[in-house]
Amino acid sequence: MKMFWAGLATETNTFSPFPTTIADFQVLRASDSDADDPQFSGWFEGINTIKKMARERGYDFVASLSAFAEPAGYTVRSAYEQLRDELLADLKAAMPVDIVMLDLHGAMVAQGYDDCEGDLTARVREIVGKDARIGVELDLHCHLTQDLLDQADVVVIYKEYPHVDVLERAKELFALLADAAEGKIKPVMALFDCRMVGLFPTTRQPMRGFVDEMMALEGQDGVLSISLAHGFPWGDVADMGVRMLVVTDNDVPKAQTLAEQLGRKFFALRHDVDQQPSPLADVLSRVADYAESGKPVVIADITDNPGGGAPSDSTFALKALLERGITDAGIAMIWDPVVVDIAKRAGVGAKLQLRIGGKMGPMSGDPVDLEVEVIGVAANMAQEFEQQGAEPVKLPCGDTVALRGRGIDIIVNSSRTQVLSPQVFSNFGIDPTRKRCLVVKSTQHFYAAFAPIASAVFYAGAPGALVPYYQQIPYRNVRTDKYPWLDDPFGL
Ligand SMILES: [Zn+2]
Repeated sequence: MKMFWAGLATETNTFSPFPTTIADFQVLRASDSDADDPQFSGWFEGINTIKKMARERGYDFVASLSAFAEPAGYTVRSAYEQLRDELLADLKAAMPVDIVMLDLHGAMVAQGYDDCEGDLTARVREIVGKDARIGVELDLHCHLTQDLLDQADVVVIYKEYPHVDVLERAKELFALLADAAEGKIKPVMALFDCRMVGLFPTTRQPMRGFVDEMMALEGQDGVLSISLAHGFPWGDVADMGVRMLVVTDNDVPKAQTLAEQLGRKFFALRHDVDQQPSPLADVLSRVADYAESGKPVVIADITDNPGGGAPSDSTFALKALLERGITDAGIAMIWDPVVVDIAKRAGVGAKLQLRIGGKMGPMSGDPVDLEVEVIGVAANMAQEFEQQGAEPVKLPCGDTVALRGRGIDIIVNSSRTQVLSPQVFSNFGIDPTRKRCLVVKSTQHFYAAFAPIASAVFYAGAPGALVPYYQQIPYRNVRTDKYPWLDDPFGL
């Protein structure tokens, strides 16, 4: 038995002004995966875990590339085609192959390809033939299409948001694929369109309970796997939206019935599971309420989260902090490579007059002119992201500087990266626990590491590339015959 593994992932915000180019992809190749580069330890752990599981079953294991780009706007057509074709060439060279395992995202949109994952999987099927098993792991912020399901044998999607279960789901997918290839099971899949849009953090109720219920049903009565595709609301493609996926052991009616039953149950929770951010001004006016707590109020600047493809150089939050005279505050991370370069060259202790952020267009607001002191410089800084049952993943932020102006510590970086850990402050000797207020450009992935040090966590909506009010997003391809445009699209 021979297994082929590859990864190609990004999440495309079709409203973002940033193109995703070939240079934006971090590409690891099989030959790198034995190298001991601690910066990518978590990535290698994923590949190496699957490699070990394959070898334990006595399989040959061939790894192709693993490519990932920080979310941004449309992927340039040639970039997608170049990576896809390299992967397919590796697959052809590895033939005959019995099992293909693909680590994708599910919301990659390239110029000319609304469904990159469907396109890739169809081409893989063409090469391996109908008898090989194809398994796909997706991020829950995917556009789950019937085209993809038609080509794959098993699809398993992350269940947790924040995504702390990437490796756990990969292990499950491997086990299902291997059992299918060995003839022990025959996976069949059914999809149900929940006809709704939203963002659903799994750390709070009733979402937590729903995820727990999905997990409790797995492994019983022929149910092999259950996934909820949350969808990615800033991808303007026809298949955007929430979908329920059930995989059973050769029982199509059961998969269909359960997918519909769970899908309708989730739809019934629609008013309670979405993130529901508050306007930035409302959130900032509440900071004073927590002055006596001795802990910071943490504010997620969700509209400018580079993890969702936003530029990460918007200034609405920084400007509001300055206008309100909020001091003992920290904000991270504003993408501005020009500022980083100037501050780096000036060095720690230098006092500078800088024009910060606001470069990428109207959705970033105007630049902020501010006199600052450089309080820290870090070459290619990294931050850690916790994973269930594994070492934290170390993710690079590019060259990064800490600036202090009018009582606000501003972290500025050169490589757009969402904030995942208070290390983005503490790496510079800034104690985040002693601030009154911390603003982080992230939607939800910051939460696990920041909640323990926070007096309160607020999600703030401002102008930007990830406007959290779906009815204001200028879709051209997404059909709006769903919630929240209609409160009950099933009842019509
Ligand atoms: Zn995601």
